[in-house]
Amino acid sequence: MRKWTPHALLWAVGLLPALIGGVALPSGSFGSASTVLDALGRLAGLGGLGLMLVAAIVSFRIPGFDRLFGGLTSLWRTHHLMGGVAFLLLLGHPLLLALAASAVSLDAALEVLFAGDIATWLGWGALLVMMVFLAPSFEFFGSRDYQRWKSLHKLAGISVMLALTHAFLQASTIPEPWSTLIWAVLALAALTALAYGLLFARRASQYSYTVAEVARPANNVVELSLKPVDRQLRHRAGQFVYLTPCDSKLQAGYREEHPYTLTSSSSEQLLRVAIKDVGDASRAIQSIALGSEVQVMGPYGAFLPAHNHDAELWIAGGIGIAPFLGRARELASRGEAVNIHLIYCVQDEARALFSDELRRLSARIPGFSFAMHYFYRDGPLSSDFVRYHCPDCATRKAYVCGPARLSSLARKVLVANGMPRGHFKSEEFTLL
Ligand SMILES: Cc1cc2nc3c(=O)[nH]c(=O)nc-3n(C[C@H](O)[C@H](O)[C@H](O)COP(=O)(O)OP(=O)(O)OC[C@H]3O[C@@H](n4cnc5c(N)ncnc54)[C@H](O)[C@@H]3O)c2cc1C
Repeated sequence: MRKWTPHALLWAVGLLPALIGGVALPSGSFGSASTVLDALGRLAGLGGLGLMLVAAIVSFRIPGFDRLFGGLTSLWRTHHLMGGVAFLLLLGHPLLLALAASAVSLDAALEVLFAGDIATWLGWGALLVMMVFLAPSFEFFGSRDYQRWKSLHKLAGISVMLALTHAFLQASTIPEPWSTLIWAVLALAALTALAYGLLFARRASQYSYTVAEVARPANNVVELSLKPVDRQLRHRAGQFVYLTPCDSKLQAGYREEHPYTLTSSSSEQLLRVAIKDVGDASRAIQSIALGSEVQVMGPYGAFLPAHNHDAELWIAGGIGIAPFLGRARELASRGEAVNIHLIYCVQDEARALFSDELRRLSARIPGFSFAMHYFYRDGPLSSDFVRYHCPDCATRKAYVCGPARLSSLARKVLVANGMPRGHFKSEEFTLL
C-alpha cells in the first residue's frame, strides 16, 4: 500500500457527502450562473461538514492507530489540512448561496444570510466558534502558543455540534433518509473515537514512571532515565511519548504533557528521553527531582522502519539525534550487521550531543559509520559534503530528523544527488 493511500481514504470519506450531494442535485443545477453558485454553495457545505467530522475523528490520539498513517505527525498534518479546507468550504457555503440569491435581489441575498431562523444562526455560530479555535494555528494572529492553541481547540466539539444541528434542521440536498444516515454515521464515528480515546486508550496507554537518573550531555539538555512503577511501556526505536512531569516543585510545565522521542533501546528496562531547553516547560524539566513521578503516554510515531535491511542514510540536526540514538543503542545491543551512515549536523563541537557515545556505538555496530557536520566549520549542509562522506547516498533510504530548515535543505541536497523523492522521510519536532 502506498503511504498516501490511508490519507487519501480519509479525504474520500470526508468528501463523500459532497459527492452524494453532487449526484442528488436536481437537473438544471448547472443551467445558469446563479444555479451553479447555488449548487456549489450546497456542495461546499456538505464537503466542509464531512471534512470537519473526519478531522475530528482522527484528532484523538490512539497509540498504534497513527502507525497506519505513517505516524502521529503525519496524521496530524492531514488533520490540520483537512480542518483548514473544511473552514474555507464552510465559509464559502453561505457566501455562495447568498451570491446565487443576489441574482434575484439584494434582499433575497440578505434573507439567505440572515434568515432569522434557528438553523441559520446555528450555522453562523458554528463558523464563529471555528474561527476562534482555528485562529491560534496561524502566526498572523500572534506567536503560536501551544497551550493556548490546545485549550481553544477544545471548542471544536461545540462547533461540530452546532454545524451538525444546522445540517439536520436545514432542507438537505441529499434526499432522506440518506442525509440523516450519513451525518448520524459520521457523528457516531466521531463520538466513538472521542470515547475510545478518552476512556480506553488513555487508560491503556498511560504508564507511571519515576525519574531514576538525570544525565547532562550539554548545559541545556538533560537525558532522563525513567523506571517503571508497575507496567512497562513497549516501544520501537524512534517512537515518541507524551511525558507529564508530576514534580510539583517544577517552575513550569507541572502536569503538562509534552512529546519527547525515546532514546532508549526497546530492550532496555528503563525508558530514556533527551530534553533540550527551548521554552518554559522544557527549561524547568532540566531540574526535575530524582525519584519524582512522571506519566508517560504512548508510544506514537512510525519514523524509523521496523528493520534495517536497506542501506540507510541518517541525517540528524541537534536534538534531532534522539530517534537515531535510540536505534543505534538498540543495534549495538543486538550486534546485528547493518549498512547505515549517519551525518550529524550541529553548530560546533560544544553542541554535539552524545558524540562520544555515538563514536563508541559505531565501533560496536558492524556497518554503522558516522560523520560530524559543524555549521561554523563546514557551512550549510551541501551536496559535496554528503557525497564525500556517503558516495552511494542516492541509492540509500534517507531519514532526517531536525529543524524544518535542515529537512528541506537535506531533501534538496539528496534529490540533487539523484535520490528518488520517495526514499526520503523526515520527522520534525513540531505538531502545529
Ligand atoms: C514528535 C515530537 C518529538 C519530539 N521529541 C523531542 C525530543 O526528543 N527532545 C526534545 O528536546 N524535544 C522534542 N520535541 C519538542 C518538544 O516537544 C518541545 O520542545 C516542547 O514541547 C517545548 O515545550 P516548552 O513549553 O518548553 O516550549 P514552548 O516555548 O512552549 O514551545 C516551543 C515549541 O514546542 C511546541 N510545543 C510546545 N508544547 C508542545 C506540546 N505539548 N506538544 C507539541 N508541541 C509542543 C510549540 O508549538 C513550539 O513550537 C518533540 C516534538 C515532537 C512533536
